Amino acid sequence: MVCESWNAQLDSYLDGELSEAEMRSVDRHVRSCHLCSVDTVTRVQMKRRIHLAGNRFTPSSLFRKRVRQAIAPKPQRSPSRVWVLAGAAALILVIGALTSTYVGTLGDAGQVFSEIADLHVATLASSSPVDVISTDRHTVKPWFQGKIPFAFNLPELQNSEFSLLGGRMTYLHQTPGAHLIYDARKHHISVFVFQEASLPARFEENLVSQKKLGFNMETWSRGGFRYFVIGDASAEDINNLAILFKTTDS
Ligand SMILES: [Zn+2]
Repeated sequence: MVCESWNAQLDSYLDGELSEAEMRSVDRHVRSCHLCSVDTVTRVQMKRRIHLAGNRFTPSSLFRKRVRQAIAPKPQRSPSRVWVLAGAAALILVIGALTSTYVGTLGDAGQVFSEIADLHVATLASSSPVDVISTDRHTVKPWFQGKIPFAFNLPELQNSEFSLLGGRMTYLHQTPGAHLIYDARKHHISVFVFQEASLPARFEENLVSQKKLGFNMETWSRGGFRYFVIGDASAEDINNLAILFKTTDS
């Protein structure tokens, strides 16, 4: 199969574990190959489902104690039984450690972040990522008029490293919003704008910056709008684009 070698790299690609050159070449391939782009979206959705399922289980301190007791060496037991127990307990501990890192930091907001990451990947993988193709913010802004229930301003990009590729309408659950796609040093960056009050989750008041499925991401609230910036660009580029939006009159 032609795509076998690409296929083997997809998980590492989504987790951002490849070198920059490899990331770029997989990126290029995924964009041009329908099979691999579909595969990428499927993997992203699966990762999200696993992640959500992992959040449902929170081990209690009593449970942890019992697991620790279970893996403590017990000389009277036959070696095979000890190994089986230790193996099972180690697995439970690993699952516990994985899930407990999310407890408290991710609630509904965490789910929204995952969905934003999905939207970003799904859009870039689609054959027509933007509905309005324009580098001119004065063309893109009015395009949204009547399509989404609010208006917002796009930043001036002159003398910046960013270029606007276009925009499209998007939905987060039933909430309509704007999805803009920018280019920075060959990396695509998505900017999402929603009305804060209609989002399915509440976020911390100020900037939240995090890594999601290998993407850098920032989110903030301004003038009743909730912004998300996400992409495989560096955290610095993501931040710089965020600053441009934050310093644009809304
Ligand atoms: Zn392919």
